[in-house]
Amino acid sequence: MSHALKHVTGLRCTVCGRVYGVEEAGYTCVDCGEAGTLDVEYDYAYINAHTARPALDGAPQRGMWRYRPLMPVDAGSPAPPLEVGGTPLYPAPRLAAELGLARLWVKDDGRNPTASLKDRASAIAVVKAQEQGARLITTASTGNAAAALAGLAASVAMPALIFVPETAPPAKIAQLLVYGAKVLLVQGTYDQAFDLCFAASQENGWYCRNTGINPYVGEGKKTAAYEVAEQLGWQPPDALVVSVGDGSIIGGQYKGFYDLLQLGWIEKMPRIIGVQAEGSAALYHAWRENINPAEMQPIDAHTIADSISAGLPRDRVKAMRAVRESGGAFVSVTDAEILGAIPALAQGVGVFAEPAAAAAYAGLRRAVDDGLVKAEDRVVVLATGNGLKDIASAMKSVGGGVTVAPNLDAVREAVATLLR
Ligand SMILES: *Cc1c(COP(=O)(O)O)cnc(C)c1O
Ligand SMILES: [Zn+2]
Repeated sequence: MSHALKHVTGLRCTVCGRVYGVEEAGYTCVDCGEAGTLDVEYDYAYINAHTARPALDGAPQRGMWRYRPLMPVDAGSPAPPLEVGGTPLYPAPRLAAELGLARLWVKDDGRNPTASLKDRASAIAVVKAQEQGARLITTASTGNAAAALAGLAASVAMPALIFVPETAPPAKIAQLLVYGAKVLLVQGTYDQAFDLCFAASQENGWYCRNTGINPYVGEGKKTAAYEVAEQLGWQPPDALVVSVGDGSIIGGQYKGFYDLLQLGWIEKMPRIIGVQAEGSAALYHAWRENINPAEMQPIDAHTIADSISAGLPRDRVKAMRAVRESGGAFVSVTDAEILGAIPALAQGVGVFAEPAAAAAYAGLRRAVDDGLVKAEDRVVVLATGNGLKDIASAMKSVGGGVTVAPNLDAVREAVATLLR
């Protein structure tokens, strides 16, 4: 089958710069191994000649596929039927006032079909798997990427095999099973599940969606940046705050704004601020110590925010580029700060976020304290996953309800205390 990716010029290794043709590219660079993640490159003049920003402004298609001319899929490939993307960007004036900021918005990507931003990536992965005629699609995940893949695969009746650590939150495992994926609960870490999944996919010729190995998943995640730009009238924020585990989401946000800048559709790039959990802060430390991301060593990762627990961030090269090239920063937050951010975000703007998503708000607080974000900055916090994904952690962040006997006297007494 001849490919119809007229707007894609090739895939470039982010470590050595070698460029591969669309047909010849595998998962990562043959010379650099797994650190050599590939970046999809576009012919921006071709895209501009065929799609104008004004045309997009009137496009009827909702969700991520409205940006199809900027995505690396065949013109003839059908999009999966689930509606991914098109998530709301809420103004958060009360939180802004608390932090002393002029303007703050929260983008609620927990509103996606399987309740996390990962749906954007899995939607592209399923299309690429179909384009390549794969029989089965597989991934390893801390939970959300797997849930997203299971859901998107179910929507197009493609078999899916998932590797997750057996310690993943039960809600995420339930999603996999309900969507009909075959599930391997690995008695080990995410990093071990990742390596097993990739090895098995090579042995069996399955299509592998693994973050950092698959060059296309970030191209789905970048659509959140397109939406932020469009929702703000193509005036990007001064700072975008994103939580970071493997570094694929933050890399995708940079790519999205980079594309728009190259197309001349926006005039500047936001500073991108990556937030890591203190117990899983490999990129934060590498950034502070000016270490080359391709030479980072694995650490032992521990955090309550399971979705950002990664010992060796798989997309470390793209993540570091996002922060360095945008003039941004990394910050690190404690698990206590992450838990505290869950009710703060829920009560301040009405968005119930899972720990990894609330971490972004905790990181904004830290960035304001450290002077990385200034009062006059227009700021967007990306809330990457829904709070119902991890109820056990949510319950740790708040007090319990009050038990009452079923009579009005008991209610009066309880109310007197509760509303005091
Ligand atoms: C995956 C995920 C992240 C982190 O994304 P990376 O690409 O691993 O850095 C953050 N929040 C949620 C809810 C996620 O599912
Ligand atoms: Zn290379």
